[in-house]
Amino acid sequence: MTQSHSLFNESDPNRPILSIIIPVFNERDVLPLCLPRLNTVIQQLDTTTELIFIDDGSCDGSAEYLTEQVAINATICIIRLSRNFGKEAALTAGLDHAKGDAIIILDADLQDPPELIPEMLKEWRKGRDIVLMQRRSRAGESWFKRTTAYLFYRFLHGLTRSQIPADTGDFRLMSRRAVEALKQLPERNRFMKGLFAWIGMPTVILKYDRNPRAAGTSKWDYLGLLQLALEGITSFSISPLRWVMGLGMIAAFIGGAFGLWIVFKAVILGDPVHGYPSLVSVITFLGGIQLIAIGILGEYVGKTYIETKQRPNYLIRDITYAPEITNIHSTNRVRKNIHAQAS
Ligand code: UDP
Ligand code: MG
Repeated sequence: MTQSHSLFNESDPNRPILSIIIPVFNERDVLPLCLPRLNTVIQQLDTTTELIFIDDGSCDGSAEYLTEQVAINATICIIRLSRNFGKEAALTAGLDHAKGDAIIILDADLQDPPELIPEMLKEWRKGRDIVLMQRRSRAGESWFKRTTAYLFYRFLHGLTRSQIPADTGDFRLMSRRAVEALKQLPERNRFMKGLFAWIGMPTVILKYDRNPRAAGTSKWDYLGLLQLALEGITSFSISPLRWVMGLGMIAAFIGGAFGLWIVFKAVILGDPVHGYPSLVSVITFLGGIQLIAIGILGEYVGKTYIETKQRPNYLIRDITYAPEITNIHSTNRVRKNIHAQAS
């Protein structure tokens, strides 16, 4: 391991370490813009900073580009996953490896401006465990995406007991304490926004304007977003199971009452029973409800199945540390109450 001149200051071991976690999936176009902007910000900070890029199975040369940067940029660490595991798994890998006293999650596409980092650190130094960045505006996103996102957050809000704040993404700062808490949640279905909210901890919300993507294209299509929304709902609430039960009860009641009404009409009023159209509509209606109920049930059974397999959330292909980072990762100091020491 090389010992180079150091951002990691041995004479000041209490200088806080900041880890910035950046998931990367086919971001070759945007990385050359992202790195200089991050570096400009980092140079102004009074922390020892490590940039952890998690290459989530990119096939456009992103990982190779980052590896080249290790020679130039002394503060990078690249964790290459064995394939594309998805952003949530990439973030988990980053959180597992970060050494920071404060940890920031940032998208590679510069939608989350790195220039806000000093402001986030200021809040952390005041003793907040989580600094949540809430979007004031969502430039560069379609009307449809904004509306569906709005509805999803409101819906989820009504559904779960742990409050998932609206219009927040993964862009946030977390204290070491919060990350350690998060690492205790072992589930395979990782709906990060929900997990972040579940742990609680003193939180402050800062508003910011979300920029459009600097280059490249979004990795989410609408089907992916729908899946994420379903994942979010079924990971954090069993209310849908109760709803279908309620719906079943209502349908059964209406069906029963309707049946009685037909008997009444036939026996008392002498009105002959009219053919099958009403029967068909009732059967299709009930059949539909049953299929929906089975589908929802299946979603939960499937989740249980995946959890029981206990597979790891991600697999690592290799890790490359720049020399500066080696220092941080070879140190096993106990860093307690760093809030107090830092302020
Ligand atoms: N990302 C990832 N794995 C994936 C998909 C995305 O690591 O399977 C990363 C991506 O490189 C980016 C971040 O997650 O840094 C956010 O992705 P994107 O910008 O495509 O999502 P959006 O901002 O459109 O929601
Ligand atoms: Mg983006």
